[in-house]
Amino acid sequence: MSTLLEVRDLVKTFGEGETATRVLRGLNLTLAQGDLAALLGPSGSGKSTLLTILGTLMRPTSGSHVMLSMDMTRASDAELTDFRNRHIGFVFQFHHLLPDFTALENVVFPTAVGVGRETRAAKERGRELLQRVGLSDRVHFRTTQLSGGQKQRVAVARALMNRPELVLADEPTGNLDRESAGRVMELLKEINKEERTTFLISTHDEKIAAACRRQVRVVDGTAVADEVSLS
Ligand code: ADP
Ligand code: MG
Repeated sequence: MSTLLEVRDLVKTFGEGETATRVLRGLNLTLAQGDLAALLGPSGSGKSTLLTILGTLMRPTSGSHVMLSMDMTRASDAELTDFRNRHIGFVFQFHHLLPDFTALENVVFPTAVGVGRETRAAKERGRELLQRVGLSDRVHFRTTQLSGGQKQRVAVARALMNRPELVLADEPTGNLDRESAGRVMELLKEINKEERTTFLISTHDEKIAAACRRQVRVVDGTAVADEVSLS
């Protein structure tokens, strides 16, 4: 399998001097193309910090970060934004959908940013994705008319809009009941299998983690106990 992304000796420190918090302390992680990996660790262990750095939304204090053979630490802010829009999708614990917009508008919105309009092709892709996540009968429903699980499935469709190689999901099921959480996880698994999209999914939930093929644990700011199962 080919390498999608690699971080080496990743360090992230917040603040300076005596109040400095060293969150990541030389973390190493390699993701292969097509990985379905859970990111585990107690609250405050640095999972969100790591996902934010891997998503190029924040720069590390030191260490190397290479994705698709591009050195992220040498890229300009504009290059990072462009790279992120092309290659990375995000799903958050709180869906961050626009409340007054329909499901379809929320999915298509990322492509409209910078273009200023939603093309017919984008709408077509948006409809396909909503069908893919089981919401073909909710395309024109507003966010406020959807259940928590449905909103999160819209958020998954939105993350896939630009056909990213990597989807970073930060506790995507953290706000859902067990049944909805299970369904969202099943969906991520299917997409991983069918489209070979790589997923890194942070979670507290051992059941959700067990559904992934790989489990990475963040302990003391480094990734350890990287287990790979063959299921
Ligand atoms: P997790 O997602 O595993 O719960 P986080 O990455 O959110 O952990 O946080 C790890 C640590 O980093 C926490 O101690 C948190 O307070 C600290 N931290 C995160 N972001 C910031 C920030 N922007 N400024 C200062 N401290 C931060
Ligand atoms: Mg977090």
